[in-house]
Amino acid sequence: MSLIVQKFGGTSVATSEKIMGAARKAIRAQQQGHQVVMVVSAMGKQTDVLVDLARQITEQPPAREMDMLLSTGEQVSVALMAMAIHALGGQAVSLTGGQIGIKTDSSHTKARIQSISSERMRKHLDDGHIVIAAGFQGVDDDYNITTLGRGGSDTTAVALAAVLRADSCEIYTDVDGVFTTDPRIVPSARKMERVSHDEMLELASLGAGVMHSRSIEFGKKFDVPIHVRNSASFSDEPGSIIGNLPESSDRAVSGCALTKNEARISLTGVPDKPGTMHRIFSRLATVNIAVDMIVQNIGAAGVADIAFTVLETDLPAALKTVGEAARELGGEVSHDANLSKVSVVGLGMATQTGVADRMFRALADARVNIQAISTSQIKISALVERAQGMEALRAVHDEFELEKPPQSRASFGDGATKVERPSPVDVVSRLQRMEDLTIDDIRLDQTQGRITISQLPDSPGIAAEIFEAVAAESLLVDMIVQGAGRDGLANLSFTVPRDAVLQAVGVAMDAADRLGCGPVSSDATIAILSVFGVGIRTHVGVGARMFKALSEAGINVEMINTSEVRVNVVVAADKGEAGLKALRTAFADVMG
Ligand code: ASP
Ligand code: MG
Repeated sequence: MSLIVQKFGGTSVATSEKIMGAARKAIRAQQQGHQVVMVVSAMGKQTDVLVDLARQITEQPPAREMDMLLSTGEQVSVALMAMAIHALGGQAVSLTGGQIGIKTDSSHTKARIQSISSERMRKHLDDGHIVIAAGFQGVDDDYNITTLGRGGSDTTAVALAAVLRADSCEIYTDVDGVFTTDPRIVPSARKMERVSHDEMLELASLGAGVMHSRSIEFGKKFDVPIHVRNSASFSDEPGSIIGNLPESSDRAVSGCALTKNEARISLTGVPDKPGTMHRIFSRLATVNIAVDMIVQNIGAAGVADIAFTVLETDLPAALKTVGEAARELGGEVSHDANLSKVSVVGLGMATQTGVADRMFRALADARVNIQAISTSQIKISALVERAQGMEALRAVHDEFELEKPPQSRASFGDGATKVERPSPVDVVSRLQRMEDLTIDDIRLDQTQGRITISQLPDSPGIAAEIFEAVAAESLLVDMIVQGAGRDGLANLSFTVPRDAVLQAVGVAMDAADRLGCGPVSSDATIAILSVFGVGIRTHVGVGARMFKALSEAGINVEMINTSEVRVNVVVAADKGEAGLKALRTAFADVMG
C-alpha cells in the first residue's frame, strides 16, 4: 500500500477552518487508497508568541525549558487536527515526537535527530488511522523534550518519509512552490516544476526561505522527493518537486537568490603558512559561527590576506573571536557591514562555459560594483552593497531569462516522482544517527592551473570584462575567487585546465593592461582538494577539520571556496597526494 506524508506549516493550520481544510486533504488522500501521515506545525505565529512570552520572563531562558515550552505549540495542533479528522468521520491518532520515538541528541533548541522508530506509526496506519505527528520535536535519551530549531517541522516530515519509505512527501505551505527567485523582489519570478536537492540546498541556504535546509539534506541523503505545494489551492494544483533531477538539463542557471544581511571580515597581513586558516576557523567553529565566501589571497612576502563573510547578526561575536586569533597570529582585522550577496545556482553550470561572464556583465550594466566573488561547482556568488542588492537580483534574473519556462525538460523516465530507493535494511542501518555529517567523497584534482590578477580597480564592470575575454577564448573556468586585496584593491584568481594556463595568462595580461589592474601571476600546476558531503555548511566544523588536517600535514592553503555540498581548497601541486591522505584520515569516521 502506498504511503504519503503530508506536512502542514503554521500558516496552513492558522485557524480552525484551515485545520478542517487540511484534515479534508488527508482524508481525501486516504480515500484514494494511501496510508497517510500528517506532520503539523504550531498554529500561525504561535511559536513566536511563546518565544516572546519566555522573553517577558527572562532574557536567558534555560534551553531545556524553552523546548518544553515551544513543543506545546505543535501539541495543540496535532490534537486539534485529530479532532478535525474525527469530526469529518475519519480515524486519526495524534502523537508527540516522544510517542513516535523520535530520538535526538541533547542540544536543546537545535537538536539533531538520531533515530526514529517506525513501529508505532505502522501499527496505527495498518489499523486504518491517519497518524498525526507533531513536527519540530523529539526526545533525548533521558526523555527530555527537544526541538530541532526554528522551521524544523519540515525536517520532521522528510525524516518520517525517509524511515517510512513513503512514496511521496508533500509540504503544504502558503506559497505555490519553489520559485526561480523571491517573487516579492522580482515579480516575474516563476514557479519551477522541479528543482534538484543540490540546487535547493544552495538556494535554501541563500535565503530562499521555502524550506528548512536540514530537511533538504535528509531528502538528498535518503532519496526522498519532496513536493512543495500551496495548501490554499482548492484544485490539486501541482507545486514544485525537489528531487534528484533539475528542471531542465540544458539550462545553466535554475534560480537565483539574495542574502541581504551579510558582513565581511578581513584579516590582512597574517602569516602565509600552514596552520593560519586552522587557527582562525577552528575558533569560529567552536562558537558555532557559519562562515561563507572565504577568500584567501596568494601571499606576498610571506603574508596573506584572508576575508570571509558572516551573517550580520553574527558579526559582533565573529569579530571578537577573529580579534583573539589575530592577536596570536599577527595581522590586522577590519570589517564592513551593509553588504548583500547575490547568487546564481544551477546544476548545468558545472559543464557549461559563459555563465560567470554573463552574470558579471548583467551586474556591470546595472552599475553594480562587485566586492567579492566566490564560486562552487553549481553556484556563483557576488558580494555587493546592500543598497544595490535587489537591483542586482533583478538584473541576474533577467539576464538568465528565468521567467521563461525551460524549452526542454530533464527526462524523468516513467514515474516522475519515483526514484531508486535504498532497501529497507539499508535505510535502517543508515538511520543510525541519521543527521550526522556524512562525507561522500574526498577527491584530488590535478588538472587545473591558477591565474591571479592583482589590484583590481574598485569599479563596476571589471570582472565582466575579464571573464568576457576569457569566455571569448572558450576557456572553461572552474573556481573563481575575488576579494581580500591590499589597500582596498581586490585580487582575482581563477582556475582553468593546465594546458590552457598559458593562453589564460595571455588573456589576463591583456585585460589587466586595458583595465588598469596590477601584475598577473600564475601557477600552471596546482592541486584542488575537495570534500563532498551533505551538511557541509550546517555542520560548521567541516572547514575547521579540513584546515586542521592540512595544517598538521604542513600544507599551506592557497585558495578556498565553499558550498552546501562541497569545500574546495587549492594547495601546491606537490602537496596534493599528501593532502588527500591527510583529509581521508581526518574524515575517516564520517565517510559514507
Ligand atoms: N513551529 C516551529 C517554528 O515556528 C516549527 C515549524 O513551524 O516548522 O519554527
Ligand atoms: Mg515553517
